[in-house]
Amino acid sequence: MQNEPAVAVTGLVKRYGDKTAVDGLDLTVPRGAITAVLGPNGAGKTTTIETCEGYRRPDAGAVRVLGLDPIADARQLRPRVGVMLQAGGVYAGARAVEMLRHTARLHADPLDVDALVERLGLGSCGRTSYRRLSGGQQQRLALAMAVVGRPELVFLDEPTAGLDPQARRATWDLVRELKRDGVTVIVTTHHMDEAEELADQVAVVDRGRVIATGSPAELRGPEGESSLRFEAPAGLDLAALRKLLPEGVAADEISPGRYRVEAKLGPEVLSAITEWCALAGAAPERLTVQLRSLEDVFLDLTGRDLRS
Ligand code: ATP
Repeated sequence: MQNEPAVAVTGLVKRYGDKTAVDGLDLTVPRGAITAVLGPNGAGKTTTIETCEGYRRPDAGAVRVLGLDPIADARQLRPRVGVMLQAGGVYAGARAVEMLRHTARLHADPLDVDALVERLGLGSCGRTSYRRLSGGQQQRLALAMAVVGRPELVFLDEPTAGLDPQARRATWDLVRELKRDGVTVIVTTHHMDEAEELADQVAVVDRGRVIATGSPAELRGPEGESSLRFEAPAGLDLAALRKLLPEGVAADEISPGRYRVEAKLGPEVLSAITEWCALAGAAPERLTVQLRSLEDVFLDLTGRDLRS
């Protein structure tokens, strides 16, 4: 069915021994769009994606990919789904471009291998074995392998991790082109700019669940909502600042001496900040206004503490 979602995950649970990696996760991925899955380290993104790819069996819940079961219907899905794994999933001794040609031959209507090699800057890697490629080249080859079969759906796990800016841009261009060709793309990333740049839909995963979904603009909130940042001596009394600010405006110290106030720039907000600093015998320095970024949203949703 064409209007069925590309991926439908409902109530997915996956445990590793005592550890619950995915804890009742729901995710719907529409066809023909780019969906970015974001989340702190260990949130359960890779486990979820690997379950959709048929590499892991759910402990509970259901996963449908292109209307099929990723494990029971693996043979039907294989030619229709492209997978780029973090670890590459490539035989280390194989020669890079030969392997790509071989993969292309396994598909009925592959992309032009030479054109793909050219645009991903893999031309110089022709006879080099996979293990001798640089990290960035391995990454680009894995991407090429995932898309060469002209799949309907592609899973990309951190496709630009460790890439230089040129290679990142080449990857983004390729992903956008996939979308133009009607391909559904699911990408996990830690780069908020990548999600902003590419994604039609973002799903934020934390502690094994999806805690927010929407377009980057929807997640950022109403237009014009901004945050003010400034520097002042560390450890000032935030409760006093909150009393001076209009009601409901959040203020916090994001790192020692760096403060953030979540509000539109206006006279009341500015006077509250300057009055508060004056009471402390200081002046606000490097005052800047920033539109709320996806990174702000992400940190607000998932917290600022490091995950173990
Ligand atoms: P990252 O952003 O670091 O890639 P992630 O969101 O992809 O993280 P997962 O790799 O899905 O997270 O891991 C979720 C949790 O499950 C983590 O606590 C991880 O340590 C644990 N985990 C993952 N794979 C295994 C495994 N094979 N055996 C035991 N625990 C695992």
